[in-house]
Amino acid sequence: MNIHEFQAKKILAGYGVNIPKGREAYSVAEAISVAKDIGGEKWVVKAQIHAGGRGKAGGVKIADSIQEVEEISNSLLGMQLVTHQTGPEGKKVNKIFIEEGVNIVSELYLGVVLDRSNEKYVMMASTEGGTEIEVVAEKTPEKIFKVEIDPLLGIQSYQARQLVFKLGLAKSISNKAVKFILALSKAVEQTDASLVEINPLVIRDDDVLALDAKMNFDDNALYRQQK
Ligand code: ADP
Ligand code: MG
Repeated sequence: MNIHEFQAKKILAGYGVNIPKGREAYSVAEAISVAKDIGGEKWVVKAQIHAGGRGKAGGVKIADSIQEVEEISNSLLGMQLVTHQTGPEGKKVNKIFIEEGVNIVSELYLGVVLDRSNEKYVMMASTEGGTEIEVVAEKTPEKIFKVEIDPLLGIQSYQARQLVFKLGLAKSISNKAVKFILALSKAVEQTDASLVEINPLVIRDDDVLALDAKMNFDDNALYRQQK
């Protein structure tokens, strides 16, 4: 089962994963009120559909005024969004996510997948965020750094520090990046997710932020969660 970006962000935030200010909206009026609540001068309006590739397909748009939030929300809500992951028929946009606009310096990737062959989570990090990890794996596999997570011990802070070092992050944010990694790993383990992807992960001033979030769950894991 897949959940929407806004739902994944809510879950992750509950485990201490740092996310930008934002909230979902189901109408243009609601979108405007959310944008006003968030404040600031720049917002991003994002189609909430069960498919990625929204940015390139026009499903993620920047607004520089409340009026633009209104115009973009109006055009996104109800549309049939076609991305390379939806198939030609596309997916209908019934909800949108309004988020504070973040000035992006560089986009990183951080993900955790369940490796079924040995029932272990593997964390993957890459400097090539914003691009799908499958593409990075094919073209520049040397740019993906992996650590196996011990099922009994969980991720160790030395492993998190190793990833931070390989990503070449500045010293000033390395502690926050380690915290982010530990929080993400905890969220995955405790929710029994089969996949979590933060793509992109960005650095803002002295902060590490999840700009996009994807989570998948196995049906049998869901059963376990409900018990
Ligand atoms: P998708 O992966 O479906 O294309 P993303 O959420 O990754 O959707 O958004 C696509 C791109 O839009 C991101 O790579 C990032 O460059 C930009 N973006 C997304 N959210 C924000 C935000 N809050 N502020 C600024 N830019 C954003
Ligand atoms: Mg993305």
